Amino acid sequence: MDFIDLKSQYAALRDNINARIQKVLDHGQYILGPEVKEMEAALCAYTGARHCISVASGTEALLIALMALDLQPGDEVVTSPFTFAATAEMIVLAGGVPVFVDIEPDTANLDARLVEAAITPRTRAVMPVSLYGQVADMDAINAVAARHGLAVIEDAAQSFGASYGSRKSCNLSTFGCTSFFPSKPLGCYGDGGAIFTSDDRLAQACREIRTHGQSQRYLHTRLGVGGRMDTLQCAVVLGKLDRFEWEIARRLQLGEAYRRKLQAAVPALQLLAVREDRDCVWAQYTVFVDDREAVQARLKQAGIPTAVHYPRPLHHQPAYARYAEADACPHSIAAARRVMSLPMSADLTDAQQDEVVAALARALAA
Ligand SMILES: *Cc1c(COP(=O)(O)O)cnc(C)c1O
Repeated sequence: MDFIDLKSQYAALRDNINARIQKVLDHGQYILGPEVKEMEAALCAYTGARHCISVASGTEALLIALMALDLQPGDEVVTSPFTFAATAEMIVLAGGVPVFVDIEPDTANLDARLVEAAITPRTRAVMPVSLYGQVADMDAINAVAARHGLAVIEDAAQSFGASYGSRKSCNLSTFGCTSFFPSKPLGCYGDGGAIFTSDDRLAQACREIRTHGQSQRYLHTRLGVGGRMDTLQCAVVLGKLDRFEWEIARRLQLGEAYRRKLQAAVPALQLLAVREDRDCVWAQYTVFVDDREAVQARLKQAGIPTAVHYPRPLHHQPAYARYAEADACPHSIAAARRVMSLPMSADLTDAQQDEVVAALARALAA
């Protein structure tokens, strides 16, 4: 069993993806070709955001969004330490200082109630992460940010396709930044990402920064990067969009089935909470276990791959330890010790899911 089954997905979409790739090879416009604009327009329509700026990766999306805010050295960005390193990494690379605020223990998302106390005169932005595919408490975070005149950047690398009330992830704040890394809910066949915003001025800034700060050809108005997403990868995303609605519906169904089956088989197992006003697209189907290494080893023996997202909160990583006391953010520390992700993708079959649940029940009983 694959942890994430990309082979079945390709088998289902093969003709479509191959044809789209072939078309790019035929027209030869590998950089900023027609598929780039076509994908950006399709994703604007999907999310409802006014602008989509495709970029080289999810990491690059975060960096370019921060650069568009013109962060000054020492400016603070409030974020979660329980995330992939890129979140805090790009804050530092953009000249900022990450200010870590703890997560809610049941959703593992940034605790909006703790944000206001972390704001100082140097704060410029809040960067919540919509972890595992569930949107963070964006209304509450936006409200605090508005009171203090701060920008909000949703790190939506894991939540593309997720709903928050009647709205979509990536269209909930100043910026939404997502990733098309192959294993994300909407993936390409390499690196890719996108920035979403409905602010015309910031969108223009992102477009310029994406291409070395050029406002016209060879007129470099500002500092930028080489951060474009290539045409071939946009063609792959377009090929995958044909089945994306089905995939999201299937992910929601599998998430619900995991909950139901796990509650029946292992009533004591702590599952991730999903708030009533939103869904979770389960970029990772993550549960909380004690004695994780032993459970993972037993599952591995049973042929079930697992993963840990993430084994250390960022303030326990050597590169970011200086930004918080070691005992800060206790819920993030506890989650890092206990989280374990199970096989998940739209092509996971019901039978495979039953096998995972039975193996986990046996592993926990051992
Ligand atoms: C994957 C991920 C990123 C980085 O995306 P890349 O496309 O791999 O650069 C950033 N933040 C989070 C939360 C992620 O899961």
